Amino acid sequence: MAKKDYYQILGVSSNASAEEIKKAYRKMAMQHHPDRNRDRPEAEEKFKEASEAYSVLGNGEKRKIYDQYGINGLRMGNGGPDGGFFSDSAFADFGDILGDLFGFGQPFSGSRQRRQGPRQGRDLGLEVVLTLEESFLGVEKEIAVERERNCPECDGSGSEAGQDAQVCSKCGGTGNVRLAQGFFSVSTTCPACRGSGRLITHPCKKCRGQARVNESKKIKVTFPSGIDEGNRMRVAGEGEGGSQGGSPGDLYLMVRIKEDKNFQRQGNDLLCQLQISFSQAALGDQISVKTFEEVEKVKIPPAAQNGQIIKIKGKGFRQVNRWSRGDLLIKIHVVTPKDLTRQESELFKKLREIERSRDKSLFEKDAFN
Ligand SMILES: [Zn+2]
Ligand SMILES: [Zn+2]
Repeated sequence: MAKKDYYQILGVSSNASAEEIKKAYRKMAMQHHPDRNRDRPEAEEKFKEASEAYSVLGNGEKRKIYDQYGINGLRMGNGGPDGGFFSDSAFADFGDILGDLFGFGQPFSGSRQRRQGPRQGRDLGLEVVLTLEESFLGVEKEIAVERERNCPECDGSGSEAGQDAQVCSKCGGTGNVRLAQGFFSVSTTCPACRGSGRLITHPCKKCRGQARVNESKKIKVTFPSGIDEGNRMRVAGEGEGGSQGGSPGDLYLMVRIKEDKNFQRQGNDLLCQLQISFSQAALGDQISVKTFEEVEKVKIPPAAQNGQIIKIKGKGFRQVNRWSRGDLLIKIHVVTPKDLTRQESELFKKLREIERSRDKSLFEKDAFN
């Protein structure tokens, strides 16, 4: 897939304000609008490209994901069969965007977007932060989601019970009108009925005729053991609700992992540091190390060196949906003793003498040249 830089497409800097992005897009949309460039077929490509860029950069949430993970962040994460971040196509939001900019709904003549009939709910994206321990063991979490759903009172009709909506007189129930807007004339969503072809005469009290309400819901999600930074999880059907019988969108969870003060992840291995003394390093020892799952008895071999890594097989991260596991890697850190007692000091002096007599070269001045 070609790498696209949405900022470049709109000709703005990566720290442009929302207002600047909107302005830049508006200018490009006016310039390349297909209705004004019938003799220039490449204009439509440009127009689509700019609109796609704006559908991301003009949306705070998507822009955040794009800035952090690039265009792939907006599509599916590592190895999943699920669809992309944009449920239907990258253009799913155009109607709304252009409505937002120009004050009307659909930009294209013979538009891609149908306001009438079932409409799928939008996908939602959320970031979830897990501790390293949670990602190691797997965890069930409650995620709070704010989203739009059909009004439960009127079941998404917008009308009070028993009061059916009337056919819109402005568009005659088709949902579309032709509008002259500045330089060009377009077929667009009827502003009176907003494309539904019907007018609500007795609006539902709960949603004030909007047919949609915001709801906050808590959803239980199980994050599998081994889940990693940047992985995406799709929770089917937990995005925004569809309208007029359309299916709901999906919820995408972007996983971030908080740093741990004792352990790190390296591929599928779990890495930690173990501080040991001179004598433990020289003679070897057995030490208990508390990992996320158990207390691990670690055997330090005699003559262990600073920086040496002890590997305990199969005690690292699980690979999601696989049997295999990484290893536990324990990095030896030999600590020089401080604040020696009198007795320790005596013993170290004795040790130094023995070492001197055993290997003279270590203490001769020449050895440092
Ligand atoms: Zn309602
Ligand atoms: Zn109408």
